[in-house]
Amino acid sequence: MICDYDLFVIGAGSGGVRAARLAAASGARVAVAEEHRVGGTCVIRGCVPKKLLVYASEFSRAFRESEGFGWRVTGASFDWKTLIANKDREIDRLNGLYIKNLRAAGAEIIDSRAVLEDAHTVRLLADGRRATAARILVAAGARPFVDETCLGHELGVTSIEAFHLERLPEHVVIAGGGYIAVEFAGVFRGLGSHVTLVYRGDEILRGFDSEIAARARAEMERSGIRVIRKAVFTRIEDAGGGGRRVLLSTGETLESDLVFWAVGRRPNTEGLGLEKAGVALRPDGAVAVDPWSKTSVDHIHAVGDVTGRIALTPIAIREGAAYFETAFRNNPTRVDYENVPTAVFSQPPIGTVGLTEAQARARAAKVDIYRADFRPMKHSLSGSAERMLMKLVVDGDSDRVLGVHIIGEDAPEMIQCLAIAVKMGVTKRQFDETIALHPTAAEELVLMREKCA
Ligand code: NDP
Repeated sequence: MICDYDLFVIGAGSGGVRAARLAAASGARVAVAEEHRVGGTCVIRGCVPKKLLVYASEFSRAFRESEGFGWRVTGASFDWKTLIANKDREIDRLNGLYIKNLRAAGAEIIDSRAVLEDAHTVRLLADGRRATAARILVAAGARPFVDETCLGHELGVTSIEAFHLERLPEHVVIAGGGYIAVEFAGVFRGLGSHVTLVYRGDEILRGFDSEIAARARAEMERSGIRVIRKAVFTRIEDAGGGGRRVLLSTGETLESDLVFWAVGRRPNTEGLGLEKAGVALRPDGAVAVDPWSKTSVDHIHAVGDVTGRIALTPIAIREGAAYFETAFRNNPTRVDYENVPTAVFSQPPIGTVGLTEAQARARAAKVDIYRADFRPMKHSLSGSAERMLMKLVVDGDSDRVLGVHIIGEDAPEMIQCLAIAVKMGVTKRQFDETIALHPTAAEELVLMREKCA
């Protein structure tokens, strides 16, 4: 069969763009269809703009802490519109770069939603055109989930709208206790909003080491964020004048001017025509794939959040590159999902790699825990009561470091480097043999001598 393209990619986010660029650069005829903007969630409405907002929100604290070092910052004020306009300019720049790089590699960009008609044909909804491809890569990403059983759910926004608010809200109520809820709570609080976070479980950040999660909540509360646990929204009402009233399962009512859903994301598989092509889904709606990202159809693959594996940009990029090796270079390549480092850009931030204490205890016969819980040097003058917590989870038999968990300033930067050592199979003894770098907070990582458990 002669097709219009060797590869048709649905979705120009992190995973799709990587695969499309590599395939096009290798000489394949590649098209990539995108219904929103090239760059996908990470660049347009995720990691990148989020981090810019995090930076913005950290200044209030820096101004406060600077006083202990002799500074007097008077007349500081914040302008939301300036931040959003500057953020948008940077996102436009990155969007332009993505487009330029795709075109330079030789890929055709199609500004349209693409749906499958059969296993080799896609229909472009913008103009109704049909295109055929020898291979198809589904990289359609995920979208925020909203609990539609909650009355008035449509009065709340998601992370998509949060990046384009007309003004900084005075009172924000956030549903959820995961990455997005915790990060945006810190952003709004840092910028001066009153923030309430409503989480359904016992402790926020489920899946993270429990001590780190508890510390994160304690730090949020110390910064003035109210965290309500074991509660969900039951109803959202329009309180007039842009205000919102949120009724909770506990019977409490909260007044706010922004209600924010951050209760997870769902793979973008609806209405893509996957069933027409014979592509099987998992019960949770994600595209089912094998370790080489192959779907139930031999020439159709899927990468990134649409597959419901690990929803992180670097994973999608790695999956896109592995797909290219597998499908275009006859070099079957699978992504290694062990010891993936991750960060929550909360305030203070969290960095983590490897097993939590609970996961390690479930897997290893003997687990040793080392902990450093200290006041970083900076706060001896800053006046802040913030402490830093570092935790090493070690296999008591082999001495291998199974996990490293940090909450405190620069934790994500530390964890990126530590992840290399953990990936290489570093032992606690090798931590001990490493000379400390003084004076840093990170030196505590190589100075933990006493087992705590
Ligand atoms: P998460 O999965 O991190 O968190 C979802 C939160 O919503 C959890 O606290 C969950 O509770 C809660 N929840 C789920 N369903 C409901 C419901 N019906 N009612 C009330 N609460 C509910 O999702 P996010 O949306 O925060 O982020 C999505 C993904 O994006 C993350 O998992 C991560 O992979 C990625 N991401 C990564 C970032 C980073 O690397 N820094 C930043 C942002 C996102 P429970 O724990 O009880 O299930």
